[in-house]
Amino acid sequence: MKIRIAIDGPAGAGKSTIAKIISERLNIRYLDTGAMYRTVALKAIRSGIDTRDRSKISQLMENINLKVLFDKDTQRMYLDGEDVTDLIRSKEVSVGASDVAVILEVRLKLVELQREIARENGIVMDGRDIGTYVLPDAEYKIFLTATPEERAKRRYNEMISKGVKDISLEAVKNDIEYRDKNDSTRKMAPLKKADDAVEIDTTNMSALEVAEKIISMIKG
Ligand code: C5P
Repeated sequence: MKIRIAIDGPAGAGKSTIAKIISERLNIRYLDTGAMYRTVALKAIRSGIDTRDRSKISQLMENINLKVLFDKDTQRMYLDGEDVTDLIRSKEVSVGASDVAVILEVRLKLVELQREIARENGIVMDGRDIGTYVLPDAEYKIFLTATPEERAKRRYNEMISKGVKDISLEAVKNDIEYRDKNDSTRKMAPLKKADDAVEIDTTNMSALEVAEKIISMIKG
């Protein structure tokens, strides 16, 4: 099926869990664009560059060796030839990703790659600016929301289940607030519902319920 489904919303709204279910059910590829911003942040951190240093980050983008590969339709992120898919999930990288995402040169390069991936395949893509900027003519656009408390709780539980220690709900909530502010106030392609997107408040819904609602919209 060559359809494009754009799923946007703030951190913890359920985007990736829901996009994965849709991808499996409709047998179309899933692209997690956040993973790309995370990989840039990891590169900066490894190079000892402050993730808010606009000029150094722009320079770093000129020669970055970042690849998105699909292994049986599962996305893997490569940096300088190394598979960093699991390494980009740390708290430090999350915050760094939100910092580098403000920088124009970072966005232009990653958006170009995202559009290229969508050109050949049907796709469900999640991020912050997919419906407004990356794929403005996507056939389906969804904007997911949930209360900040619920989003922090989900992220906290996700991290605990992955074995992350030394983490508090309060700290997760602060990170989410920091990212929400960064993401929605930046000049280029901020986090924003597209005028023609369908908004779903997921606060009291399971991921499966939300995915089924979207699938039934698509299947008509
Ligand atoms: O979705 P995820 O939490 O992995 O994204 C990490 C960060 O990357 C976000 O906080 C946001 O700043 C940035 N991002 C973005 N545009 C996208 C996807 C992610 O600015 N399309």
